[in-house]
Order: sequence, then C-alpha cells, then structure tokens
Amino acid sequence: MMETFKALYSNGKRKSEVYKKRQSDVYESQEGKERMVDMEELIIIGSGPAGLSAAIYAARNDLKPLVLGGSAPGGQLLLTTTVDNYPGFPEGIYGSELIDNMRKQAERFGARFENDDVIDIDVASRPFKIKTAQNEYEARALIIATGATTKWLGLESEKRLIGRGVSSCATCDAAFFRDKDVVVVGGGDTAMEDSVYLTKFAKSVTIVHRRDEFRATKIMQERALSNPKIKVIYNTVIDEILGNERVTGVKLKNVKTNELTELPVQGVFVAIGNMPNSGFLKGKLELDEQGYIITNEEVKTAIDGLFVAGDVADKRYQQAITAAASGAKAAIEAGRFLQNEKRS
Ligand SMILES: Cc1cc2nc3c(=O)[nH]c(=O)nc-3n(C[C@H](O)[C@H](O)[C@H](O)COP(=O)(O)OP(=O)(O)OC[C@H]3O[C@@H](n4cnc5c(N)ncnc54)[C@H](O)[C@@H]3O)c2cc1C
Repeated sequence: MMETFKALYSNGKRKSEVYKKRQSDVYESQEGKERMVDMEELIIIGSGPAGLSAAIYAARNDLKPLVLGGSAPGGQLLLTTTVDNYPGFPEGIYGSELIDNMRKQAERFGARFENDDVIDIDVASRPFKIKTAQNEYEARALIIATGATTKWLGLESEKRLIGRGVSSCATCDAAFFRDKDVVVVGGGDTAMEDSVYLTKFAKSVTIVHRRDEFRATKIMQERALSNPKIKVIYNTVIDEILGNERVTGVKLKNVKTNELTELPVQGVFVAIGNMPNSGFLKGKLELDEQGYIITNEEVKTAIDGLFVAGDVADKRYQQAITAAASGAKAAIEAGRFLQNEKRS
C-alpha cells in the first residue's frame, strides 16, 4: 500500500494528510490501476458557520473530522462586512474574522480541511462514498452543510458594493440603515417581508419590481402596500448601482420605455431568492421543490448516519447563529451514531 501511495504522490496527484493519519483502502480503478480511497470516521461537506461549528464539536469529540470546505471556503458570511448579531461580540465582528476564528478553533482540536467541491456522493449504502474533482473518500458518517447562494442581479456594480450598502439579508443588515433611504428588489413574499422589516429602521423603502404586478401572496402585498414608508416602482429594473466606496444611489430602467432615471439611496436589498447548494444531491436525498434538503427530526435524514446542518435545509431562518446551532446538533448526533455503532 505504501508503494501505491508513493506512486500516486510522485505522479503529482494531491493526497490529503488524511492518508498518514487514517486507514485507506486500495481499489481497482476502471483502467485497472490501483487507486486509493481515504476512509474517514466523519466527513463534513461545507465550511460556513454550520460546517465549522460541526467541525468544532466533532473534533472535540475526537472524531478527527475531515471538512471538504468547497472551492469558496467560508460561506456567505464572507459577503458581508460587520456581523452585529452573532452572540459574544458586543462591538460586532467582521464576517471574515468570525469565519477565520471558527476555523482556527476547529483546527485546534484536530479538524482537517480540504478546499475541494464535492461533485458526487453515493449514500445508497455505507460507508458513504464522496467524490471531489481531486479525490475520493469513504466515511462512516456524513454531515452536509453546503449552505445556500443568493440570487444576485448580476451587475458588476452590485458585485463591487456587496457589504458596502448592497445586501441580500434584511434580518442581518436592516439596522445599519437607520434613517436612510433604501431600495428592495423583488416581487415575491421575501421582498414584501424584507420591505416591511426595513421600515422599522429606514426613512423610506422603495420596492423596484420588473413586472406590473407582484407574485407575492395577497396578504403580504397588503401588509407592504399599506405601509406609509413603502412605495413601489413597477416595470423597472436596476441598471446600475451607483457609488464608489458605498452605495449612493441606483440607476433605474423602465423596461417598457427604456427610460433611465436615478434614485438617491444608501442601501440596496436584493430579494429575488436563494438557491440551496444541493445540485449534487439530486436523486440521492429527498429535496423539496426548491432544492432544500428535507430533514427528519431537524438534523437527521431518512438515511442512517447522514446528517444535515445550516441553510441547505433551512429556508426559514438562514442566520449564522441558527446554522452554527444546527452544525453543533448534527455533530452531536453523528458522534452518538458512531458510538452506538461501535457498541453494537
Ligand atoms: C450578504 C449577506 C449578509 C449576511 N449577514 C449576516 C449577519 O449579519 N448575521 C447572520 O447571522 N447571518 C448573516 N447572513 C446569513 C448567513 O451568512 C448564513 O445564514 C450562514 O452563512 C449559513 O451558514 P451555512 O454554513 O449553512 O452555509 P454557507 O455560509 O452558505 O456555507 C456553505 C459552505 O458550503 C460550501 N459548499 C457549497 N457547495 C459545496 C460542495 N458541493 N462541496 C463542498 N463545499 C460546498 C461553500 O463553499 C461554503 O463553504 C448573511 C448572508 C448574506 C448573503
């Protein structure tokens, strides 16, 4: 086996440190060549607050988890500047610093990290098989914490100003816009809910919607439209978000007349939807119509040994603290599952 390892290594294929620490199995590949699959006790897919909290708990439970953190490790908190609502930081903390701290904390107890995207899993039988572009692994237990991705407008100016007045999370960032003018983009329930929530803080909220009517439920529309701080601009899209260091306004385009106008605002909330990162799970796990993983008793799934944490299974709360909490729960459940299995 050591010879195989050396051969693979000298062929330039990247092997994780895992090999030295844990048992590996040798398999025949389709081409007839030997290939190794790392056998892990617990693999965690995703390195946002859910995956990192799971890693802290699992590592402290001596499970030596391997975190496959994705090609964009850290998750959604890297898209924001100050996080003001995560407990323990009275002055707030930068999203990137919070993530960095969580990762260091997990590493302190022995969690290991690979920044690879998982492209396929086989959970039909155990051990589970997990495939990245670089490697293949086997695990006795698995936690999926792949989070969600905001649907953004796709403007260059939007990308530049995310965290500088552009946000997709009203619950997280509304309080930064006290007495300011803001725009909400969207026409569904989330846009209505975010608009009403923002009126607690903002001086004015303008909903910009590309059609001439909302698709939000009637009750949500009524709630928004009856609020004196909210006004609506229909048949209109944002053509550009203005501002260098921070948002100073939006350039609007009427989709019927192509007329361009400018509206001075300090905040832009994009509320056109969220996509759970579950594409590679289609046909493997039960997903709802939007792609969120359906869980059974919170963090458990119908498959023994497979647990889920964070936004990939949660379309209701989607906060760092709720993701972190479910990560902790998933790791505790995974620990109990592995322990029970050893006993039987
Ligand atoms: C702009 C913005 C501001 C926010 N501000 C706040 C705030 O102030 N306070 C707050 O509490 N919440 C805030 N949130 C929400 C918060 O960021 C999320 O609720 C939280 O990050 C969810 O954590 P998660 O671990 O479930 O998922 P994510 O943070 O989405 O992390 C998912 C991880 O999975 C990885 N991944 C995805 N697919 C794969 C794959 N196939 N293989 C391997 N890895 C994969 C990703 O690379 C990432 O590391 C904000 C969100 C946004 C978008």
